[in-house]
Amino acid sequence: MPDVIYFDNAASAPMRPEALEAMSAFQNEHFANPSSIHALGMAARRELEKARERVAALVNADVSEIVFTSGATEANNLAIRGVVEPLLREGAKPHVVTAALEHASVLRTFEDLRGRGLDLTVVAPGPDGVIRAGDVLEAVRPGTALVSVMSVNNELGTVQPVAEIAAALRKSKPRPAFHADAVQAAVASPFDFKNSGADLASLSAHKVGGPKGVGALIVRRGTILHPAVAGGGHENNLRSGTENAAGIVGFGAACAALEAGRSEEIRRYERLRERLVSRLPDGAMLLISGHVPRTPHIIPLECPGAEADWIVLVLSRAGVMVSAGSACKSGSRKASPILQAMGLPDRRAKSVIRVSFGPRNTEEEVDAFVKALWQALQRTGF
Ligand code: PMP
Repeated sequence: MPDVIYFDNAASAPMRPEALEAMSAFQNEHFANPSSIHALGMAARRELEKARERVAALVNADVSEIVFTSGATEANNLAIRGVVEPLLREGAKPHVVTAALEHASVLRTFEDLRGRGLDLTVVAPGPDGVIRAGDVLEAVRPGTALVSVMSVNNELGTVQPVAEIAAALRKSKPRPAFHADAVQAAVASPFDFKNSGADLASLSAHKVGGPKGVGALIVRRGTILHPAVAGGGHENNLRSGTENAAGIVGFGAACAALEAGRSEEIRRYERLRERLVSRLPDGAMLLISGHVPRTPHIIPLECPGAEADWIVLVLSRAGVMVSAGSACKSGSRKASPILQAMGLPDRRAKSVIRVSFGPRNTEEEVDAFVKALWQALQRTGF
């Protein structure tokens, strides 16, 4: 049994050994700039392009569609600003549709552009944490420039009807661009870019066992996108700046390792989830139950009457790392906007913890977590 049980993989997963090895070998050998045309530059470029192939293979995209970024926050910004900013600059007031359960890097980017004239419609999820495709499509109108809906929610684990929305959008004329934040979907769903119907999709390396500070925006051929960063024209002119080559190589190695063992990994998450659900102590329950489509690696648990932050700290002292399903802002604890958007009152929203599994987790750890949670809940009176 390890000293620490890490059940916060949705926040950041440990690096896969394959990623670490690939990065250290690359760092030692390939210090040259991958854009240099001499032999060392070209050798670095070959490694970078191999990584691009590996990332593309994980999500069934074409290599030419992968644009490396500094992470999914930047990829989300590039997708949204890349579509919307040229329209704002022309003096138009473009309309966009998104969902209330999107990541802050989507919602805050839209909020920022709203200040510059963007017309924003935010669709609320149902009490099950799933957006209704019909609600999104109803909000779309002639002239809607962009629709952005994530594939799997990072706090709830719920799978959103991205393919259904994309298929319906393909029939609307003129057709809005469609962006999907696929960060959590790529971990255990799996995410298939070609068949998703999305024009743009965001990925993050550190959620799939690669390093932090690397990600990608997948850009379907023919999608008109304005670069967010101007400069030397790297990454198909969409993201200038010398590439984080070692990080990209680590990202590629993590994607290849995940792809090779993916079905077994997903089955393992399902087994861990079943074990956890069947052993939950009194005082803790699944926030989302019933036949709701969801990823097996993210499990929000409601602990009525308890403060999630308090449980997180008590568990941490017991060597178990989970997270609260809520954000901490300059010291004052606010209920998660995602849980609020689902219609949960503040008191309930503040009692939700998130357990998220990664490739290293075991059934033994699930049992130890259950025991530690039971002990923590005992102290709240259960
Ligand atoms: N989208 C989702 C759904 C996420 O879970 C995260 C990571 N918290 C991000 C975007 C941002 O990713 P990054 O850390 O690579 O900027």
